[in-house]
Amino acid sequence: MTTFTRDTEIFRDEDMLREDYQPESITAREEELENYTKALQPVVNGAQPRNIFLYGKTGVGKTAVSRFLLDRLEQDIERYDDIDLSVYWLNCTNLSSSYQVAVNLVNTIRAPSEQISTTGYPQQRVFDILYDELDTIGGTILLVFDEIDQIGNDDEILYELPRARSNDYLESAKPGVIGISNDFGFRDDLSPKVKDTLCEEEIHFSPYNGPELEAILQERADGALFEDATEQGVIPLCAALAAQDTGSARQALNLLYNAGELARTEAKSVISEAHVHDARDELEQSQIEHGMRELTQHGHLALVATLHLALEEDTPARVRDIYPRYRTIADRSEIDPLVRRRMHDHLADLAMLGILDRQSRNEGRSGGQYYEYEFSVDLRIVQEVVADLEGVVLPERLLRQL
Ligand code: ADP
Ligand code: MG
Repeated sequence: MTTFTRDTEIFRDEDMLREDYQPESITAREEELENYTKALQPVVNGAQPRNIFLYGKTGVGKTAVSRFLLDRLEQDIERYDDIDLSVYWLNCTNLSSSYQVAVNLVNTIRAPSEQISTTGYPQQRVFDILYDELDTIGGTILLVFDEIDQIGNDDEILYELPRARSNDYLESAKPGVIGISNDFGFRDDLSPKVKDTLCEEEIHFSPYNGPELEAILQERADGALFEDATEQGVIPLCAALAAQDTGSARQALNLLYNAGELARTEAKSVISEAHVHDARDELEQSQIEHGMRELTQHGHLALVATLHLALEEDTPARVRDIYPRYRTIADRSEIDPLVRRRMHDHLADLAMLGILDRQSRNEGRSGGQYYEYEFSVDLRIVQEVVADLEGVVLPERLLRQL
């Protein structure tokens, strides 16, 4: 008996629906590609590269377009013997300072056996090591910092690197920085000197509209899915749902991929619109679950307190009912409780994240207004999250029900 057999319906090459798949062509980004190409022209001319800053929400093609164009650049430049181009990518997720970026960049450049330690050097020392590495490589060096917003205000490196040559720290290397950010605020918060240097060329990526997402999806689906694997309206539906929500190609691709998985699980040979709607619900749930896990400690305490009431069927509940529970749980967990108003802010946050539903009520004739809260997600999901929390001592009654 065989347990595993290869799919012969739905997915022909499901990797093509993954977000890290690099498409062979870019759809619907003509203007951005044109500006990006122009901004890179000095590299082709053997001149000092410009610094480029790309920004736009997540899933709008910043990484894919950069990969695509820099690959092209490397290919096309091979014709010119006098240009020596190196491109280094650094994903800055979880790198919260210029220091960490510099260390990781050194380690990206160096062989695995010559890595430096991520702590313990003075910042200037790490910069010096970095300049030495860059000079050893020589020629034009493009440094791509993806998700650069992660470094927050500690943006010194974005100023230092592009200026290293004019400051005589570098002899033979011509570095150019390409910064990519998902966060609009990051650009506005850059210190003025960094903004002037880094944002020499700015390229903004706007959210995709429905037809653009449909074109991107169709292109992917042609390779990823078997012919006739989708009901007619499926791809336009994924595109429309993502366009209404975020305008993100990542979201549209995820919808199609998850809808396909649902069809596969049900042993269907065609993805239907119902699968897409179900996939959307699932993705929304998992996003909310993720949001719950990422809450701060007091957010978690507020969550547990409300869950406690919900399991006793005492919701919708007011702050004055939730707060005493919150205090008890905080005490038992040896966490200093917040005052009621501040803890109320956390309930409001939970409502904003779609975890709680918040209704405003009027207090009879006296005319006072108050809020009532109840969960707008399946309690089982909340219980799962709560069961994994560290540092929060759960009430006995709640424990028994997990
Ligand atoms: P960002 O870096 O802006 O968050 P990505 O470049 O990672 O977004 O894009 C998310 C997904 O959508 C990737 O799988 C990418 O290949 C795909 N994608 C985005 N824009 C396009 C496009 N214009 N053409 C083809 N695929 C795209
Ligand atoms: Mg990206």
